[in-house]
Amino acid sequence: MRRKIVAGNWKMNNDLNQSMSLIDSVIENSAGITNCELYLSPSFPFLRDSKIKCEPTNIKVLAQNVSHLEKGALTGDVSCDMLKSININSVIIGHSERRTIFKENDDILLKKIELCVKNNFEIFLCIGEDLESRNSNKEFSVIEDQLNNTIFNLNDINPKKLIIAYEPVWAIGTGLSANPTQAQEMHNFIREKFKVKFSESISDNLTIIYGGSVKPETAKDIFDQPDVDGGLIGGASLNHNDFIKIAKSIT
Ligand code: PEP
Repeated sequence: MRRKIVAGNWKMNNDLNQSMSLIDSVIENSAGITNCELYLSPSFPFLRDSKIKCEPTNIKVLAQNVSHLEKGALTGDVSCDMLKSININSVIIGHSERRTIFKENDDILLKKIELCVKNNFEIFLCIGEDLESRNSNKEFSVIEDQLNNTIFNLNDINPKKLIIAYEPVWAIGTGLSANPTQAQEMHNFIREKFKVKFSESISDNLTIIYGGSVKPETAKDIFDQPDVDGGLIGGASLNHNDFIKIAKSIT
């Protein structure tokens, strides 16, 4: 059976006190949630405290990024070893904000993926087309290229350690979510590509989550799609009530 996952990407929001109190609220209100796995992704300075707070619960802690190199002269970067030393071994790679604002290209992302695999990390790999590509009917070829240039360079993958987050760039933080049909057709396309590249069993077991302006009101229709296994939630994850409602929308 495929893993169902709802992950909150807090981006560059919440200081230490805000992060701790949001985690407390999520812990308090998520006790009965068994329909999906919950992840929270605070900023780097708060990962260790977050991890300690979440340790006795089922909530997992996810880093928003990791360096493409093991160590050295990379001011501002954080390595796999550093994350491992605070017991963090799940990371988001390739978020569209990293791709566009920080100019991380597929070559860099492939290096990150390879290092994470070497370190036995769990990877949330984000892919998604921008509005121009969608408007010119190139969304499928953009996604195929992003897969070919990154994860499809590996000879084998462990579907229990990889989560694909389909996040159309035009839907992130815009309030314009993909509709359930658009989400389903892209998730199905991605799953088919994994089947051709790796195997039917890998494709069947791969968790593919949707991200892009998911709200409590829209989550259920998207999550009900057969190839959608949960969500990566930005803005709505900053409010514990919304985040929990979204998580409860998975059946
Ligand atoms: C995200 O940043 O991954 C995201 C999906 O953001 P939002 O939910 O705010 O669109």
